[in-house]
Order: sequence, then structure tokens, then C-alpha cells
Amino acid sequence: MTEKYIYSFQKGDGKNKMLLGGKGANLCEMTQIGLNVPPGFVITTTACLDYINNQRLPDGLMDEVKAHITEVETQTEKQFGGRDNPLLVSVRSGSAISMPGMMDTILNLGLNKQTLAGLIDQTGDPRFAYDAYRRFIQLFGKVALGIDDEKFDQHFDAIKKQAGIKADVGLDSEHLRQISELFLQVVHEETGKPFPEDVYEQLELSIKAVFNSWMGKRAVDYRREFHITPKMANGTAVNVVTMVFGNMGNDCATGVGFTRNPGTGTNEMYGEYLVNAQGEDVVAGIRTPKPVHELANEMPDLYRQLVELRNKLETHYKEVQDYEYTIERGILYCLQTRNGKMNAAAMVRTSVEMVAEGLIDKKRALLRINPELLEQLLHPQLDPNSTAEAVAQGLPASPGAACGKCVFEADTAEQLGRAGEAVILLREETKPEDIHGFFAAQGILTSRGGKTSHAAVVARGMGKACVAGAEDIKIDVRSRQAVIGELHIREGDMITIDGSTGLIFLGRIPTIEPSFSEELKTLLSWADEVAELEVHANVDTPERARLAASYGATGVGLCRTERMFNASDRLPLVIDMILAGNKEARQEALAKLFPIQRDDFQELFEAMSPYPVTVRLLDPPMHEFLPGEHQLEDEIRALNQYKIMIQGQQVTLDTLGSHALLPSPFNHLNEEVINKAIAKKELMLSKVKELYEVNPMLGHRGVRLGMSYPEIYQMQIRSILEAAALCIKQRKPILPEIMVPQVITVQELIKVKSYVDQIQKEVEKQYGIDLEFKFGTMVETVRACTRAAKLADVAEFFSFGTNDLTQATFSFSREDAENKFLPLYNESGLLADNPFEVLDAKGVGQLMKMTVELGRQTRPDIKVGICGEQGGHPESIRFCHHIKLDYVSCSAPRIPIARLAAAHAKLLENEYSIDF
Ligand code: PEP
Ligand code: MG
Repeated sequence: MTEKYIYSFQKGDGKNKMLLGGKGANLCEMTQIGLNVPPGFVITTTACLDYINNQRLPDGLMDEVKAHITEVETQTEKQFGGRDNPLLVSVRSGSAISMPGMMDTILNLGLNKQTLAGLIDQTGDPRFAYDAYRRFIQLFGKVALGIDDEKFDQHFDAIKKQAGIKADVGLDSEHLRQISELFLQVVHEETGKPFPEDVYEQLELSIKAVFNSWMGKRAVDYRREFHITPKMANGTAVNVVTMVFGNMGNDCATGVGFTRNPGTGTNEMYGEYLVNAQGEDVVAGIRTPKPVHELANEMPDLYRQLVELRNKLETHYKEVQDYEYTIERGILYCLQTRNGKMNAAAMVRTSVEMVAEGLIDKKRALLRINPELLEQLLHPQLDPNSTAEAVAQGLPASPGAACGKCVFEADTAEQLGRAGEAVILLREETKPEDIHGFFAAQGILTSRGGKTSHAAVVARGMGKACVAGAEDIKIDVRSRQAVIGELHIREGDMITIDGSTGLIFLGRIPTIEPSFSEELKTLLSWADEVAELEVHANVDTPERARLAASYGATGVGLCRTERMFNASDRLPLVIDMILAGNKEARQEALAKLFPIQRDDFQELFEAMSPYPVTVRLLDPPMHEFLPGEHQLEDEIRALNQYKIMIQGQQVTLDTLGSHALLPSPFNHLNEEVINKAIAKKELMLSKVKELYEVNPMLGHRGVRLGMSYPEIYQMQIRSILEAAALCIKQRKPILPEIMVPQVITVQELIKVKSYVDQIQKEVEKQYGIDLEFKFGTMVETVRACTRAAKLADVAEFFSFGTNDLTQATFSFSREDAENKFLPLYNESGLLADNPFEVLDAKGVGQLMKMTVELGRQTRPDIKVGICGEQGGHPESIRFCHHIKLDYVSCSAPRIPIARLAAAHAKLLENEYSIDF
């Protein structure tokens, strides 16, 4: 046999988790650094893969097992299968990536009639011995022989019932002996053979069972769910470990601990233990464990040893550890250790403190934290102790938890919001005209649309919770209710949504508020020292810009100006502009919008001073600013009915011979107002019909609007440049950037640039200053990518709009794909990720890489960034670093995540590769 399949804990390489599994590697490492680990050995994952491929154990494996058992016998002075001092072992699975509860473990292996008798003699405790025996028979029966738990449980329950005992601890040794006998019979009946007495046969069957559990349904499903690829973990190792018992008397105990408090990160002893108990008792909650500090009184010497163990673990692993131990007759054994899972606040605090203590360096402090974890620190979270069950689930579209009263219209949201009520806005899908509802609501819930739908993008921009595309919910605005199966949710009912998971709950679920701690600031300042990518923000208001700056953004990468159009004081002006029948009328409406936009930009530039602010000229199709066709038809119908009612009142009065006027709004004067309203709505309706497009997202939008209605873009450009002039006058350092959306040809850029040049001259003259700003383009059409070299003749910067670019590259509608067919694509492995969330490096990324290269050929110093939603996603950020973008831009709450991810991208750049 050439391959070595087994390593003793003294010999195995503690770093080789792929070969020995996480648990096995740790047991080796702990042994080798001098911790008291019960002796044992690891059978490698290679043996597992050989077994699975050939359906039999590798040749000579059991001989190797025997040799290692002999070694363990020598170390423990016990005999495997021997009567006087029997060696019992556990057989545990463990792959490179921990998969809790997914694979099998067998305890107390080595018990048979003979060793059982020996154990009784040795311990003088038949109850303990029979208890271990019956547990072993059941576990072995289930795992190695495939017998259902139920077959054993029915006997166990029957004996308990006969004896009138409720809790298992009430069973005495005689009950447990009877149970063991019955269990042996079960095995005989179910397998047609007696329970194996030969301890090596027990061991061989158990090893095979653990290997088989790697391909068991549970484990396969788990790996698929958590994207565990063979590169990350391939096969399971088997750990054969000497059993130690925490339940042999009052000088025994079992416990679990963290080297620091995992809830707060505080550097203190943390954990629980139970005297005279097995690990299982702690987990099953049969007895209430005591806080570890009590061990200092109960077993002072062992407490001291435990403190020493904890210190050794941290100094060695340089990471907070989650460890398990057992005290058997006054001797402390460490059974397991692994990196402690902690909440975000604790991870951040321990990172900063461990650097201060000299335990780790800054690089490690940054790399030990998964950037996504920081999300918890910036949004309210559902209380993890809540046990409430969700009534429905949609897409997690904008993180954070929110509760409030259900409302179905933006106007109602605004009214209740003004009255100080917390509300959740429920819509089938949202439109820009709902924007005032967003402002007023705590959260948004839609039954249609994906993670880049209007609702999702706007909510993320505002940092509000949003669950989108919850298709099981039927939203009926007319009757103001939402229906989920049999359940009816009416206006005013309280609900809670969790935008981090997409779950929806009835009633108010407690939430935990976010905090941006000093430790987080310190950690992120270290990230900035390392990162090469800058992190900018996608924000549309000065308020959000200030928030983004407080989170560490060094620029605004995308200001979607249409968001400014949607505020309730501007929308009527925008509608007038759209309804205008000719250029003059349009210019009149634009003239009213101009000072509002200019003031907006001035405030925005000041909020981000001295950093750059990229303002995108109008992008969405015009119809988005108008109400929908059905809504208008409803409104016109209602107005007509109202008019008839007023006319009827007047006729009644006339027949009575009265000339009195009815009070407003019922008098005939009001009829004129109604007629005007009807005329305006009818005009809007005809405009909506005129603007109708089958595919508006691929239609008359973006720079195409700037070509058809130059006066709109000219008004925006003038607003930007005058705002800049006003800032300069006030000596505020600013860096405005004008960005054109949806560009496909340099000719479009040349045209818009001609407006810019003309207006620049006028503004410079008017204010007597020189303006400094950049002019650039979004790259969000495939043609823009292929024509990048030419675009760079005019554009001083590129910003990848990867929402549209993904849509265009895949020909997947960004509005519909995520809740129609994308889940199927992801679940069945046709696509590894949702490309609207994780940048599709191989497809969209390839286009980006080419664009950067082409752009830099023409203009070597061209500034390039990304402002699609993927710009805040850590894996996508790694790719952006790889193709040497200058910045990523994302919504404000993702800025800390992006800063940390940008540092990771730099620190791990040598390990990054991509196979196009
Ligand atoms: C994009 O397409 O990536 C982008 C940022 O623009 P929007 O989402 O506004 O279309
Ligand atoms: Mg776009």
C-alpha cells in the first residue's frame, strides 16, 4: 500500500484540513501543541473517496486501523475489546468545511457483553455502564445498520411507561439493562444477525457508515445549499478518539466555552458546564448548565487549568475559539476547538483588541471578518430570540427589519407617516410616483419585481427595508387588503418585514437597533490604508450623502437625478413638462424646475465636499412619472360621477325654486374645477397612451431623451454648473461630474458635450469664474463596451451600470428574471449565482475588462468605476480590483462592507484568478 490513509494525532498535519478534515486537523494540532486531547487517529478523506469510488475499503486499511488502535492502547493502558480496562472510542465524521449535524457520529464503540461487564466492575456503576451500552446499541444500529430510531424508541418509551417514569434520568440500572436487552433483540430482528460482539467488526462497519454519510441526502443537500464545492471539501475524514466520560461521578464534568464573549467580544472566560454529565445533556437541555465562573469555586484547580487551556488556544490559533472539554475523574481533556462564530459587533471588537494585545496584525484583523457580516451593524435586525413564524417570503431586496401598519397607497403612507405612525407600504410594484410613500414608510413590500426593481433600488438607496417579489401575496389596492392563502391582511394591520431574509411576519417582532462603533471606525481606517479601490456612494439627496460620508464614502458615484424629480413639490412640474405640447411650453415648465435642481445640486456638492459627485442626467422613460393607464381611467370615471352628482344637486335646488348656492364643494362653481381636473387627467391619459412602449426599459430613455428633448438635458447641465459656480464662489472645494446614461455611440456624447461646452461658457461668464468638472458616460449597453476606445475620445470617465449591462448581456429582464426563472437556474446549478447580485465575472466581467483596456488605450488616465448594485458585493469587488477599476459605488449602508471588501481584494490579490 503506497498511500498513507491514517495519521495519529501526534503525526497528522494540523494545517491539512482537506486531507484530515477540520476536526481531525484540529485534534492533531491540539495534541501537538501539548493540550490534553484523548488519544486517537484520523482516517483521511482520500480513504473516504477511494471507498466511495470502489465501494469497498482500501486494501490494508483495517490492518492500519489495528496498528493505530494498538498505539492508542499503549497510550491509554486500556484494551480494545479487553475486559479489565476496556478502551471505548468515538467514531466521528469531519470534512474540511464544517457541516454541523449533516454526517454521522457513533459513541461508546467497543462495548460488548464482555467489556460491559468490565466497565461495570471498573466503575462500580452499572447505571452508567448500561446507559452507555444502550446509547451505543441504538446509535450503532441506526448509523451503521440502518435501523430506524423508532424501532428502539418504542421499547424505550414502553419501559418508561411501565415504570411510570417521565424523564430519562429517572431510569435506574435495571431499567437500562432491560432496555439494552430489548435493543439487542431489535438489532437481531431487523438485520437477521446478532449485534456484533467483535469490536473490530463494530469499528469497520462504523467507518464505512461515516464514509457513506458523505453521500447521504442530508449532506448532499447541505453542500448544494451552501455552495460547498469539491474544491472546498472533498470527502469526510473519520476520527477515532478515546472516549472520556464526564458522567462518572462528582469529580467529572463536561462543558463548552468561548475564549471571549461571543455576544459582545469582551475578553473574558465565557461558557457553561455541568458536573457529572455528558455533552448530550448540555445540548438537550435536560439539566441547566452553570456559568463557567462557578467552576472556580467548585473545582478551583480545574478552573485554573481551564483558564490555561483557553489562553493556550488563543495564543496558538490567534483566533477566538469555541471549545469543548470533559473532566474525567479530575483530569481535564480538550475534545474539540474551532474558530468561534460571533456576531458582527463581537468580531469587530475582537479584531481591534487582538491587534492592541499584539496577538494578531492588522492584516489578519481585516481578513478574519467576512465583509457581509458588517451588514448587521447598519440596519435594525430582527431579535434573534424571536420564535415568530413567517407567513410568506419574498426576495431580500434591501436589508434591515421594519414593522408598521400596512398601507396600500403612497398617499396613505404619507398621511399616517406625518401623523407619526410607523407604516409598511404594500404594492404590487412601485413606480416613481410612489416616492413620497417611501419617504414616509419604515419598509416596502411588493408582490412583483426583483432585486433591481424600482422598489428594491429606491429602498436600498434610502436605507429602508424592502422585501420584493413576494409572489404568494395577492395585493388588492381597491379593497385595501393583501391575501396570503386564507389569510387576509387589512389596512392598519401590523406586520414586520425582514429585508435581509425576505421573510414577512404578522404583528410586531422586536428588533435590535444598529450602531457604528469606534472599533468599527478603527477597523475600517485600517481597511482604507490597504485598499486601492475607492468607495463611493449611490445617493440622491444631501441627507443620504452626509450619511454616506459618515460611513466613509469618498465620493458620490451615482446621483440618479430622476429621484429629485419625484419629490411631491417637483412632480407636478415634471408632469407639466411632459404634457407640454411644444418646446416653449416645455421650457416654461423646465424654467420652474431649474432653480430647484440647482439648489439640490449645490447642497449635494457641499455635503460631499471635497470629494467628487457624479450626477447622472435623466434616465428613466417619461411615462414613469405619470400615473398608470388604469389608475387614470378610474380617476376620470370617479370625477365624472362626482360632476353628475353636483349637477343633480343643482337641478334639485332649481326645482325647489331656490336660488341659494350650495356650500363648496357642492356648488356649481366647483364644476369648473372638476372639468379642469378631468381635462388634465384626459390629457395625461392620452400622453400615457402616446408614450406606451412594449419594452420601456429598452425604449425611449437615457440619452435618447437628451437627443429628443435637448432642453431637458440643458436645464440639468445648467443646474449642475451653476450649483458648482455657487460652491466655488463660497470657496467650497468640489468636484462635479456630469454623466450620460444609456450611451451607445460617441456621437451621442459629442452632442451632449456640445450642450455642456456652450453652457459652461455662459456660466463662467455669468459668475466670472473657471469651472472644473469632468464629463463622462455610463457603460451599460453592450455597444458602449465594444466602442469604448471611441467613447474615451470624449468621456473623461466611465461608470459601469451593471444592472442594465447584466440585463443586456444575458437578455434577462431585470424586472422579472429574479422571481420567475432565475431561482430555478440557481437551484439547478445552471447558473452559480444571481448575476443581478453577484457580478457575472465571466460574461459581464469579460466585457468590462475589455472596456477598461480599450478606454485606457485612448485615454490612459481615464477614471473607471462601477455603480450597478453589484458594486457593493464583496466577490464582485474582488473582480473590480482585479481589472483595476478606480472605484466602486454602492448604497450608503453597504459602504463599510465595500471598504472592508476592497481591503480584502488587495490583501488577497495574489490568490485571485479567473478563467474566462
Ligand atoms: C445600472 O444600470 O447599473 C444603473 C446604475 O442604472 P439604473 O439602475 O438606474 O438603471
Ligand atoms: Mg442603468
